[in-house]
Amino acid sequence: MNVLVTGGAGYIGSHVVLALLDAGHSVVVIDDLSTGCSDNLPSDIPFFHVDIRDEQALRACFEKHSIDAIIHLAAKKAVGESMKHPELYFSVNVEGTRVLAQEARRAGVKTFVFSSSAAVYGNPSESPVTEHTPLAPESVYGVTKKMGEELLLWFGFTLVNLRYFNVVGYDPSGRITVPEKQPQNLFPILCETGVGVRERVQIFGTDYDTRDGTCERDYVHVTDLATAHVRALSLDESITLNLGIGRALSVRECVYAAQEVFGEFAVEDAPRRPGDPAAYYANPSRAQNVLGWEAQITDPVEMITTMKPLYE
Ligand code: UDP
Repeated sequence: MNVLVTGGAGYIGSHVVLALLDAGHSVVVIDDLSTGCSDNLPSDIPFFHVDIRDEQALRACFEKHSIDAIIHLAAKKAVGESMKHPELYFSVNVEGTRVLAQEARRAGVKTFVFSSSAAVYGNPSESPVTEHTPLAPESVYGVTKKMGEELLLWFGFTLVNLRYFNVVGYDPSGRITVPEKQPQNLFPILCETGVGVRERVQIFGTDYDTRDGTCERDYVHVTDLATAHVRALSLDESITLNLGIGRALSVRECVYAAQEVFGEFAVEDAPRRPGDPAAYYANPSRAQNVLGWEAQITDPVEMITTMKPLYE
């Protein structure tokens, strides 16, 4: 297939591009490089330095390349920033998706794989979280992902809607060399602290009703996630799939794993971060059944080991 990857120079996108090429697909990438890095892309694939809201530029891309399917990852993704700048998130994530859908339909594209998020569940009412767990996003980011899901369905595409849990790690074979800029998530923060870029890690909340008092999340490796995107291309009906490993790790367990990889570093107990759900994890059995997909990397030490070379 000839697959257009929007956000293909980003953290998840660059891994999806590698997985597509490994599987023998052709790839075209669109990215505005606001957070992505073209150094993480093979130099011989068609690349459009384009904002997905730019109708004319998208049209030119579709005129130049015959696209069989779109994997749509281009989006703003920082929950905290989304609360401060809702206009930016509705503009890029919703209006951008609307323009892309319009131009894709005009070009005759039928299939979308959409990068959605567990943020659409908000503070999930049950765990493990299934695709039937009620949607109740609690951030602007989560709302824009929910709107993106609905928008693509209403345009009539065959939509494989992938709801990611907490995505971590880097390509274990070392093909991605530039880490994310200004990371805001736990694992890259642990790595930056491990190599001394940060002085200490703060644990946001130690009095939750969880195994060790810290928040629990489902961390899934980006290479496993990328594999799921490639398999999603072979589905011919719209479906929503949770992508997680089906198990929760506490923040403290992640800290210990990072210390095993990097050695000791300073850790500080800190107040809860407003809006953080105590604990949730995915039920990934639908993805297992439909895609034959199961996460291969499930050990946090192994996950962090794949990240280490990018921070040294
Ligand atoms: N977290 C933390 N210290 C940090 C960053 C994150 O204790 O410096 C915690 C955060 O409160 C949450 C978990 O780590 O419980 C995962 O946070 P992240 O921002 O990576 O993802 P989220 O689950 O919020 O999408």
